[in-house]
Amino acid sequence: MKKEIKLKIKQDYVKKIKDGFPLIEKEALTNAEVLSEEGQILHLMDERGRFIAKGYYGEQNKGYGWVLTQQQEEAIDQSFFEKKIRVALQKRSGFFKDDSTTAFRIFNGEGDGVGGLTIDHYESFYVVSWYSEGIYAFKNQILKALQQLVEYKGIYEKKRFNTGGKYIDDDDFVTGERGEFPMIVKENDVQFSVHLNEGPMTGVFLDQREVRKKIRDHYAEGKTVLNTFSYTGAFSVFAALGGALKTTSVDLANRSYPKTVEQFSINGIDYEAHDIKVMDVFEYFKYAVKKQLTFDMVVLDPPSFARSKKHRFSAAKDYKDLLKQAIAITEDNGVIVASTNYSGYGMGKFKGFIEKAFKETGHRYKIEEQFTLPSDFATTKAYKPGDYLKVVFIKKL
Ligand code: SAH
Repeated sequence: MKKEIKLKIKQDYVKKIKDGFPLIEKEALTNAEVLSEEGQILHLMDERGRFIAKGYYGEQNKGYGWVLTQQQEEAIDQSFFEKKIRVALQKRSGFFKDDSTTAFRIFNGEGDGVGGLTIDHYESFYVVSWYSEGIYAFKNQILKALQQLVEYKGIYEKKRFNTGGKYIDDDDFVTGERGEFPMIVKENDVQFSVHLNEGPMTGVFLDQREVRKKIRDHYAEGKTVLNTFSYTGAFSVFAALGGALKTTSVDLANRSYPKTVEQFSINGIDYEAHDIKVMDVFEYFKYAVKKQLTFDMVVLDPPSFARSKKHRFSAAKDYKDLLKQAIAITEDNGVIVASTNYSGYGMGKFKGFIEKAFKETGHRYKIEEQFTLPSDFATTKAYKPGDYLKVVFIKKL
């Protein structure tokens, strides 16, 4: 067990933490120099030495760690994690009963009471992601807790620390039986091929589940669809299954071509009837304008930051321009699905970019729908950036 240490919180931050704010921010600390080893249990005190909360030291770009309990007597041990995971599993009981979807999140960081930790369920496998060395220090307790509570074939892990939240590349197998990958999981009766031991991503972003369903069930029929930053083509597959006339998937990464072919094929779609382009999205926009290509639906799902040979994109600064490029090749009465997972702004500001982009291009628009995280990605009102996903369906008038 690591030594437990006392950490003083500046008066201005005391109420916030008492009200449930889970992040231990750098600016809140008066004696940060006592932090020496990630995984240390921290007793947060006010400036007069009164107890506020207990948490752990784990550096992420967001802060220095997370609050775990406001109960002074509560120990942070295996049974603590068992309690948290048990409650989290109960919240997802509907997902476990639903055969049409076999991939979902069972534990979502601070939304389920333990910042820095997520656990995803893929059929009979689990993937545990550690977002700091600090939370990784609790690996044994957390894994034992999980193993007590769920039936599983195998458990994999993703270490997303040390290198600024980036993934550490090694064998991700932890325990149980090794899976055979790619393996097929289901989402609303659509098949997804996933690989749990091939880098940081598995092939599907589970947080877009409701958006994919909406596109398939209400928007795709008879439409031409451009899917930008398409990765394995998940939005294209749902659009095609929803009766899209044709989809065009554009992604810079070489892997995106074979992965997209695979996702189409396992769902019985002829990939040759669709376009899959391995290229820079920003170059594709230029090409589309030159060729006067237009689409009934354009999906925009860029990463928060991206850098290619010729272009640099940051969701913080460049989303409005991205929208303008999409507007230019969207048919009148067509729909732009604008999505971002950037946690630095909320829905209000994101809609501000939409407003400006349409104003500057001289088009009117109507917001048809909007989505945030699905229920398995539990969030807490006390920590707004945790609710990072923003997706808006915009009709170009
Ligand atoms: N929309 C996808 C997820 C996108 S992940 C889905 O729903 O599954 C972000 C993707 O953007 C990655 O696959 C990455 O290769 C791609 N990417 C990043 N910069 C790009 C660029 N300039 N042009 C095209 N693709 C880019």
